[in-house]
Amino acid sequence: MYQINSNYQKLPGSYLFSTIAKKVAAFTEANPDRPVIRLGIGDVTQPLVPAVINALHRAVDEMADASSFRGYAPDLGYDFLRNAIVEHDYKSRGCGISADEIFVSDGAKSDSGNIQEIFSKDCKIAVTDPVYPVYVDSNVMAGRCGEYNSQTQTWSRVIYMPCTRENGFVPEFPKETPDIIYLCIPNNPTGTAVTKAQLQGWVDYANKNGAVIIYDAAYEAYISEPDVPHSVYECDGAKTCAIEIRSFSKNAGFTGVRLGFTVVPKELKCGQVSLHDMWARRHGTKYNGAPYIIQRAGEAVYTEEGRAQLKAQVAYYMKNAGAVKEGLSKAGYEVYGGVNAPYIWLKTPEKMSSWDFFDYLLEQANVVGTPGSGFGPSGEGYFRLTAFGSYENTMAALERIKVL
Ligand code: PLP
Repeated sequence: MYQINSNYQKLPGSYLFSTIAKKVAAFTEANPDRPVIRLGIGDVTQPLVPAVINALHRAVDEMADASSFRGYAPDLGYDFLRNAIVEHDYKSRGCGISADEIFVSDGAKSDSGNIQEIFSKDCKIAVTDPVYPVYVDSNVMAGRCGEYNSQTQTWSRVIYMPCTRENGFVPEFPKETPDIIYLCIPNNPTGTAVTKAQLQGWVDYANKNGAVIIYDAAYEAYISEPDVPHSVYECDGAKTCAIEIRSFSKNAGFTGVRLGFTVVPKELKCGQVSLHDMWARRHGTKYNGAPYIIQRAGEAVYTEEGRAQLKAQVAYYMKNAGAVKEGLSKAGYEVYGGVNAPYIWLKTPEKMSSWDFFDYLLEQANVVGTPGSGFGPSGEGYFRLTAFGSYENTMAALERIKVL
């Protein structure tokens, strides 16, 4: 009789977004005349920019002709895209990353979930708290996290690094030394970031303690402050301790198109073993390459036209973020984030729990956000709003919240 991977059974149900969906559905059914505005899920709403659409059309036409048709893509990505990534994301920032250190994929969710495969089951992970849930869940599936405590909502073998207003949302070095450290900067869900000097501290810590940093920079395009690093490789020594994951979802609206990449430097070694070679082996075995058409669309993101159009798109979302942040602050809320990321992280008023505030906002303002406690125990008492809605909807939601 076969056995299943029983680690899957340890996972608590996907409570957060399914509970939100159920509550919103019940509210809408009971109040058909009170339309809700959704600022909950981190999905984009603006269409793909013309430079990307044109590249997609051109690539589709190429596929219609035997002389330009492409079959399987190279496992690790087409050179035209890997070169454009290096040129615009790394060379311009003096990061010294080469094209053969870039692994093109279908997005940051798969890469951040899959990367743990190349590490031993005994490795101990550390995550910021609150955190993007994929990091912990994928390690649970691999049997690395111990047992779940539903009271504290924590796993016995995971090191949690609280990020709250008390420490300025900057994780502190944990008492127990981890093997794998997940950092997401700018952060989902708190919308906050760290300075280059603070990140350098983490790189030094990882190198000193023989740990590896999994650096998720999915929101890099939203950075507006000059001292916030765009890549972990801006820090000295990062190439010997860090893997960086990037996405085209939020900088170019590719959530439904699917494209991302992971950087594994050749200098990153565990003893004599190259993690670059391991990831190449893993990628080559389990992944058959991102579609040609999509990689051409990704290339268009880096053209002069594409960059200008996407700068405007990011500015559109950040205008929402700025308006929500300012409006809620003026209305007396304690508000964080929204400067280097499209997320607003607010302290719930009058010590309300995250879920109580969710219900309050849904019922009184008909606005949907995300309870902070859904991202980890230190998210309790906080609430996330996204800036990814349309400007009109965002302003309407803001007005509704302000009059409460
Ligand atoms: N990493 C973080 C921190 C995210 O917030 C998200 C999406 O919300 C992802 C990764 C997923 O990115 P992708 O769409 O490229 O899979």
